Amino acid sequence: MKLTNFVNGQWQQTEQAEFRPVLNPANGEELAQVRMSTAQDVDLAVKAAVIAQKKWAKVPAPKRADYLYEIGRLMKERKEHLAQVLTKEMGKVIEEGRGEVQEGIDMAYYMAGEGRRMFGETTPSELGDKFAMSIRSPIGVVGLITPWNFPVAIATWKSFPAIVGGNTFIWKPATETPMMAYEMAKIFEEVGLPEGVANIVFGAGSEVGTALLEHKDVRVISFTGSTETGRKVAEAGGRNLKKVSLEMGGKNAVIVMEDADLDLAVEGILWSAFGTAGQRCTACSRVIVHKDVKEELQKRLLTKMDTLTIGDGADESIKIGPVINRKAIEKIHSYIEIGQQEGATLLVGGEILTGGIYDKGNYYAPTLFTDVKPDMRIAQEEIFGPVVSIIEVASLDEAIEVNNGVIYGLSSSIYTADVNRAFKAQRDLDTGIVYINAGTTGAEIHLPFGGTKGTGNGHRDSGVAALDVFTEWKSVYVDYSGKLQRAQIDNET
Ligand code: NAD
Repeated sequence: MKLTNFVNGQWQQTEQAEFRPVLNPANGEELAQVRMSTAQDVDLAVKAAVIAQKKWAKVPAPKRADYLYEIGRLMKERKEHLAQVLTKEMGKVIEEGRGEVQEGIDMAYYMAGEGRRMFGETTPSELGDKFAMSIRSPIGVVGLITPWNFPVAIATWKSFPAIVGGNTFIWKPATETPMMAYEMAKIFEEVGLPEGVANIVFGAGSEVGTALLEHKDVRVISFTGSTETGRKVAEAGGRNLKKVSLEMGGKNAVIVMEDADLDLAVEGILWSAFGTAGQRCTACSRVIVHKDVKEELQKRLLTKMDTLTIGDGADESIKIGPVINRKAIEKIHSYIEIGQQEGATLLVGGEILTGGIYDKGNYYAPTLFTDVKPDMRIAQEEIFGPVVSIIEVASLDEAIEVNNGVIYGLSSSIYTADVNRAFKAQRDLDTGIVYINAGTTGAEIHLPFGGTKGTGNGHRDSGVAALDVFTEWKSVYVDYSGKLQRAQIDNET
């Protein structure tokens, strides 16, 4: 199968285009070939999107939302198929694949509801016979750049508010996971979204991503990916005066206090750390534990880790799937030596799995380091794999300080039975998301999603907050006095 661009409601010709194989990370099987587009392809898509946007902006928001209801309905109808495709191209276990598709369905219905809300403000005016309000206006053409680890959910967090907000978009998915974008393009086509509203251009970040960033007619860039790439996106976006929303890396921690329910904490840590083979932006990669329960927590973690099944995520009995590719495996593995050289103790894992299916795919053993100091590289840098560092602390204050002592600020969690500690922690943890007595993953689509410091630049995906990225505030004054009234001057007299 050849995956080609969906532009202006048409599937682009495949002649003379370059294609690259898409591989199943579980077994190396070639699933499809994806188009590696050029800056000219981006230009074509932007031109179509500019024309379409002028009409789209005038479609009443509740009517724009009707398309989202239809998109949600089709996604629901095809949920199992979409989940299977997702698991094949990305590797996460099928249960998580279904969960991710469900997130997209929820986002469709939630954002469709915004078509009849999209509240602005009406306020009193400082002058008589004058009316004042603020409304959300469409911005124009937006560029969406997404990572491979959530091939559909993240795209829905961005494209659905873009649609309901009256914008048109060009979506550049990650080259590792273009099949979900292709499936979504088919859905956009089937629901009859007007030509040019939804455009999908496949290809490399250096070519297609850069072309979007440099294009004068792209007004907004919404990016999710690594902090390293996000920095480049921010620089180019700044130079070109685009509105840029960035969701980037994380180094998320679970704090376990001495009064915590340890079994509950163990379950939360396992799910957050090893789900999606540790490749969630919110994955737990640090456990900050009170010294009084460190040994016991470690013991219980090791016992439970023993039961984790690792293999092809399409098999329902598997708990941990492969990591995305060889490059990722090598990066993860390099941190084992780094950790040991720094003085951390490797408790379990630390190896690339081999033999049987493991030889065909990219499998890494769930790994636990202990005796980790907060400033070690394994406790500071995003490894993006199934590797966890245990850091011992003596108090809640120290735990919070360790949690906050990294450049990232996406998600944090605390297990404690003390409500006072829980409230103090939610106030002081410097992350965009905080969980009490739950692991670091599990965001719901109706709340803002994003992080502080090196994780974000103040914008948020999902929730109503996403509309702040994809709409512009316009303040409207209606003077019905029939005379010249001068604000900030006449109201003094
Ligand atoms: P990445 O930064 O390598 O790529 C992300 C996207 O950017 C891809 O589509 C890629 O092709 C594109 N890209 C690459 N170079 C580019 C350039 N120069 N200009 C424009 N676009 C470019 O990230 P990844 O490996 O795909 O994803 C993993 C990273 O994403 C991790 O760091 C993870 O924490 C992060 N992530 C963050 C969130 C969040 O909401 N904070 C969610 C998911 C993933």
